[in-house]
Amino acid sequence: MDRFGPSTLVEAGAEKLIFDAGRGAMQRLHQLAIPFADITGVFLTHHHSDHVVGFVDLWLTGWIGRPWGQRRSPLRIWGPDGTNQMMEHLPKAFHVDIRVRSHSYPVDGVKLDSGEIKEGIVFDRSGVKVTAFEVDHGGEQLPAFGYRIDFQGRSAVLSGDTTFNENLIEHAQGTDLLIHEVTAFSGNAAESAGQLKRISSNHTTPDQAAIVFHRVKPKLAVYNHLLLFGEARAEDLIPLTRTGYTGPLVVGEDLMQIDIGSETSIRRFEPQG
Ligand SMILES: [Zn+2]
Repeated sequence: MDRFGPSTLVEAGAEKLIFDAGRGAMQRLHQLAIPFADITGVFLTHHHSDHVVGFVDLWLTGWIGRPWGQRRSPLRIWGPDGTNQMMEHLPKAFHVDIRVRSHSYPVDGVKLDSGEIKEGIVFDRSGVKVTAFEVDHGGEQLPAFGYRIDFQGRSAVLSGDTTFNENLIEHAQGTDLLIHEVTAFSGNAAESAGQLKRISSNHTTPDQAAIVFHRVKPKLAVYNHLLLFGEARAEDLIPLTRTGYTGPLVVGEDLMQIDIGSETSIRRFEPQG
């Protein structure tokens, strides 16, 4: 319950962009007291369900006319092949709810405006540039992207789901912040050896991440999307990475906020009241 699904909010200038909408994305946004109407775009890294099951909640709850919703204009979504199909079918699946609530709320607010992306610049508005780059989700055989966000000479890179990937290293050069997925296992796992082998070949182990961080040299590296098996714990991840990387590294937490300015600083969430 402390770690909901993958979803990263990037605030830069006038833009509030959400990358992936895993389980609980809506609840976490609400904890930050950010109304959904303020979200200016959603980007999907890939279509694995753990990265998208929170989307419906963001989309529909964000339309409802309460203070945390109130979206009045179509929601923009960018993602790999399959995104247009999903965004075309979701309104059909929820057509009863949409029909009924359209009497109360502006119909434009529930519309979905999607685009399928290729590697390159996919968003460039008010000084915020988002570049998608292909990553390698191993044997999963689905299109998967990482994203780089640039604004006023500062940048952040999100790995999405990937195994060790040279293209990520190339696109992440010079970044302030690199948020990278990770997997680790030790001891007796409930999964079979075959399953573990498959999972680790689709994701990045700490010793592989160490090579990525060492070659990118971000001002700060952060682990997210922790896939831990057997007796592996979050506390093990940094020691396991120290074999090949000595720079700044933290294990991400839900609602952790990272400010990228002349310095890069981390704030942990403190519940109000
Ligand atoms: Zn995945």
